Amino acid sequence: MNLLTGIFVFILGGLGLLFLALCARFYFGRRRAEQVWSAAQFPKLKDMGAVKQLSILPLIDDLTAKDGLSAESGVSYLIRADDTTILFDAGLNQAGEHPSPLLRNMEKLGVSLDQIDTVFISHLHLDHVGGMSYQSKRTFGLSGEVVNLVGKRAFLPTEMTHPSADVTVVTEPRIIAPGTASLGPISRQLFFFGWTLEQSLAINVEGKGLVLVIGCGHPTVQRIVERAKQLFDLPVYGVVGGLHFPVVDKPVQRYVGTDNWLWNPANKQTVKKTIAALKVHQPRLMALSPHDSCTWSRAAFQQAFPGAYRDVRVGELIEL
Ligand SMILES: [Zn+2]
Ligand SMILES: [Zn+2]
Repeated sequence: MNLLTGIFVFILGGLGLLFLALCARFYFGRRRAEQVWSAAQFPKLKDMGAVKQLSILPLIDDLTAKDGLSAESGVSYLIRADDTTILFDAGLNQAGEHPSPLLRNMEKLGVSLDQIDTVFISHLHLDHVGGMSYQSKRTFGLSGEVVNLVGKRAFLPTEMTHPSADVTVVTEPRIIAPGTASLGPISRQLFFFGWTLEQSLAINVEGKGLVLVIGCGHPTVQRIVERAKQLFDLPVYGVVGGLHFPVVDKPVQRYVGTDNWLWNPANKQTVKKTIAALKVHQPRLMALSPHDSCTWSRAAFQQAFPGAYRDVRVGELIEL
């Protein structure tokens, strides 16, 4: 064997071992996630109350409603629930810019930092915490340079810190403001990203029911709805956010973020099953984030929920 062949065999062997290690991690992680899910028992969240008004303004996502706004494959929504104003996730800011696309869109949409009292991070993935550098430091950030969040509460789904916000690591479902709760982190093992804890928001709108706001939807929307049903005796009025259906034209996300075996990621059948499961609840509002769902999936939802469906677009207010 000459030197070149030796190097080639060595690299190939290393890659093979790495792949086997990923498979083993995925196998055991997935089993663990199923055990955690089956064992999770939470009492009803009583006395949450309800809000009279709810509006959701997408600040970052894949599509924009108006010229001049920045689009990126991440999530950040401004949620106004009566007197509480929540920044849900912090976008992607892939280039680490300052001001970030999020800050620029906020300015263009007339949103200032002092209007926000609470930050809610769905999960520790780069497209939700403001970029890879924040993800690797287990924190979040609104821009490439420090943005002071003194006096703001931050509800985080896993062990994370922030230099200035008043941080609470959420370990189980809890009320975070009148009419507003975290459903608590739900775990999922992803093939490449590994162990992922994702929390979603539930907002009880008076006379209507729960609006669920979801970041990437890794736990599956079926489980998120099931958790909401465990915690509240309320109908699901709306679902807004990412459900992770990059089944046709988002090949990178399809494989990188899969929670199935690598050779069997989510497909059209998965989307159809999910639609059937959601239809049981007859949501009146179904707003799908394009950041982690492809055009085919969005069209399928649009067809399945006529009258209720809308795309999430930056700058287009969802108001109840
Ligand atoms: Zn995402
Ligand atoms: Zn994610």
